Amino acid sequence: MDTERILRGALGDALRTDEPMARHTTLKVGGLARWFWAASDVDDLARVLAVCTEHDIPYLFVGHGSNLLMSDAGYDGLVIQNRCKGTEIGEETYAESGVSFGSLFHQTAKAGFAGLEWAIGIPGTVGGALVSNAGAYRGNIGPLVRSVRVFADGRDQTVGPEWMEFSYRDSRLRRSGIGRTVILSCTLRLTQRDEPEAILARAKEYQAQRRAKQPYAPSAGSFFKNVNDAALVERLPALTPGMKAAGVVPAGYLIEACGLKGLREGGAQVSEKHANFLINAGGATASDLRTLACRVKAAVREKFQVTLEEEVLYAGDWRGWEAA
Ligand SMILES: Cc1cc2nc3c(=O)[nH]c(=O)nc-3n(C[C@H](O)[C@H](O)[C@H](O)COP(=O)(O)OP(=O)(O)OC[C@H]3O[C@@H](n4cnc5c(N)ncnc54)[C@H](O)[C@@H]3O)c2cc1C
Repeated sequence: MDTERILRGALGDALRTDEPMARHTTLKVGGLARWFWAASDVDDLARVLAVCTEHDIPYLFVGHGSNLLMSDAGYDGLVIQNRCKGTEIGEETYAESGVSFGSLFHQTAKAGFAGLEWAIGIPGTVGGALVSNAGAYRGNIGPLVRSVRVFADGRDQTVGPEWMEFSYRDSRLRRSGIGRTVILSCTLRLTQRDEPEAILARAKEYQAQRRAKQPYAPSAGSFFKNVNDAALVERLPALTPGMKAAGVVPAGYLIEACGLKGLREGGAQVSEKHANFLINAGGATASDLRTLACRVKAAVREKFQVTLEEEVLYAGDWRGWEAA
């Protein structure tokens, strides 16, 4: 049976074809997904993943597309967008992976559970947050995770946090062929209690800091990971004491020191406001953005002998692509 008939049989009218992925990524770039489905029920999702596995149908699982650079060539398979948003809030909070991270923060704060204040302003789903161990202001999601329900190796299973192999902006899911192993839901342990107003006030402070530093133009957040390199820290006397103590050099510091703020490639630009944000300044293609990323990496390598590693993930078909 051909792929379209199998998918139509499993999804009926909910299956869309030739969906522009630029509509589903915060960078607002990306070509067509040959097939597209928005999943809103986890059990339905697990069933469709099993169908795809059984028939060897290529699929790419996405959340809000806020950490993705989707290729101009798009994706020749099924893109599954995650809209599974169920939650049960408590000390052991259950969250389906498609709930937005911001919404989860607000729900937990309202119930008097602290610990996710830093998550305010991080766009994206809880699933996307787990994949990259999202974090900010010294908080990360990894340490809060108690269990994860995943569709991995062709079956629906529940695993402990050690299975995820969390580290700085990383987990095993970033290494195992992105978007194939799917997080369906998770439980987080939230032990600190506080007044909702106090929790919200702390979060608003983080949000104000974020607004002051980050550009409004379409982006995927920090494009590169910060650099954990004590020897490099020693070579950079102008770093703040906090950065020195942590032994971490912000990627934005290195990019700015190369004089790259404002650098353009087609419609892509290194933000004037924050050098680690590569923005769609208007009409950018995915190729413009990736070419710009290559130029940034080359300049930083030449000046500091450091190879920046992308925090943003390249998705879709990039075969045969070369920087302009
Ligand atoms: C303005 C801005 C600010 C940001 N600030 C921060 C920040 O402070 N800290 C931070 O860590 N990040 C930040 N980000 C990056 C991004 O928001 C996070 O990485 C977010 O967690 C990604 O979630 P998502 O649902 O959008 O994932 P997507 O971009 O849709 O997907 C990212 C990757 O995860 C995979 N994936 C998504 N959901 C699942 C799932 N359920 N199961 C398996 N794989 C899945 C996808 O296949 C893809 O490989 C920022 C982004 C923007 C645009």
